[in-house]
Amino acid sequence: EQSSVDHTAMPDDKSLGGLLPSGFDEASCVSRYQSFMYRKASPFKPSSYLLSKLRNYEELHRRCGPGTQPYNEALKQLKSHHKSAAPTECNYIVWISYSGLGNRILTVASAFLYALLTNRVLLVDPGTDMTDLFCEPFPSTSWFLPGDFPLTKQFNSFNQKSPQCHGYMLKNNLLNVSMERVPPYLYLHLGHDYNDHDKLFFCDEDQSLLGKVPWLIMRTDNYFVPSLYLLPSFEQELHNLFHEKVTIFHHLGRYLFHPTNQVWGLITRYYNAYLARADERIGVQIRTFEDGRGPFPHVQEQIQACLFKEKILPQVSKDDSSISSSKNPKSIAVLTTSLISGYSETMRDMYWEHPTVTGEVVGFYQPSHEEFQQSHKKMHNRKAWAEMYLLSLSDKLVTSAWSTFGYVAQGLGGLKPWILYKPENKKTPQPPCGRAMSIEPCFHAPPFWDCKAKRGTDTGKIVPHVIHCEDISWGLKVF
Ligand code: GDP
Repeated sequence: EQSSVDHTAMPDDKSLGGLLPSGFDEASCVSRYQSFMYRKASPFKPSSYLLSKLRNYEELHRRCGPGTQPYNEALKQLKSHHKSAAPTECNYIVWISYSGLGNRILTVASAFLYALLTNRVLLVDPGTDMTDLFCEPFPSTSWFLPGDFPLTKQFNSFNQKSPQCHGYMLKNNLLNVSMERVPPYLYLHLGHDYNDHDKLFFCDEDQSLLGKVPWLIMRTDNYFVPSLYLLPSFEQELHNLFHEKVTIFHHLGRYLFHPTNQVWGLITRYYNAYLARADERIGVQIRTFEDGRGPFPHVQEQIQACLFKEKILPQVSKDDSSISSSKNPKSIAVLTTSLISGYSETMRDMYWEHPTVTGEVVGFYQPSHEEFQQSHKKMHNRKAWAEMYLLSLSDKLVTSAWSTFGYVAQGLGGLKPWILYKPENKKTPQPPCGRAMSIEPCFHAPPFWDCKAKRGTDTGKIVPHVIHCEDISWGLKVF
């Protein structure tokens, strides 16, 4: 007997262990169901609780997304100019497009996790390029904020002194937790320059107040997930969702971020032309935060010292006359990403001019050298996204300290990178690099506040699974 086709059943690998929902038109976003052909299977399995939470979220988003009746009802509250909101059927978190692409990927993931934890619908401000870079992650609806959203024009002017800013209102006693009546929307300022009042977002008391506000508009350039763990009201749910704590960005990133066909073309053409046939793929992400252009000798030395010391690449031999007897030596493809070309050219030349001591051959490939950040250009951002993705396909990964570009690659790839430490005073750091403790990104600007005791505290010492980062001593990451 022929049973009817079950559209919810997809092979486990194609659906990334059940993370991806079915029901999409495959051709409109080829990467979604092709990524498994390029990635190694993840060593981490999403929990069945996470999978059911995602399916429920998709249902919520379909019911409340742009154009639906609950959405229109909630919009009325925004337009009414009433000082206080009536309860709405659906509540929303609006993510404002802000900062470099790596930062944006991390903050969308953070906002989505917050939406899951608070039963909100995430709407993404398309900014200038988000629709060009990312497919829709939720079936039969859209996560993009419609063009006629009434507050979009104000996004640029929202700041810490805006009358609707959560921290500003707290500071001026315009909000308090016992309030019955809350405004229809609040602006959450969670950028790296936020102040002590803005940071009260990370306290349970404030979360219970925020829970009543239909629209939250968020601007952040930080992966704030580690601090959500420190809120007692979220901790248990996070534990249920992610049995393996370090897999938050790994799973949510693979679930949310699917390159558009244009970007997928950049990724697959590059991969198939230069990387596919190598026996081993190494990713090296070089990002410097020095004054001046580079290449800098102390960084060149650092990269080389790290690759040799950690035995990521074979040493070169001084004996240029030694010839490998093998017709088919093991080949290593090194994918480097950098704004400039100098570092990888030097390494490439070294492996051409000298044999390796092991007889392996090493090729260096760098897709672009954009010279400087040009986030307003379409092709520039497509390439940045493609390069983060290509790095994530490596077998081993080396990243640069402080860079969210590298965090995205390590998280998507499920790779514990070697981190090139940040040089001080133009000197090669000693040691040049160290292995990351987990695949999770670092929260660069966490609060140091004990909400209960109402005094400062070291938030990296409260629970064993939220610790200080390897590359930023005051940062926090999940471990
Ligand atoms: P972060 O500044 O390192 O945390 O990473 P972001 O991605 O947030 O911002 C850096 C931006 O500079 C990227 O989004 C790109 O626009 C550009 N950029 C930096 N490094 C590279 C690189 O290796 N390749 C490309 N294509 N762009 C880069």
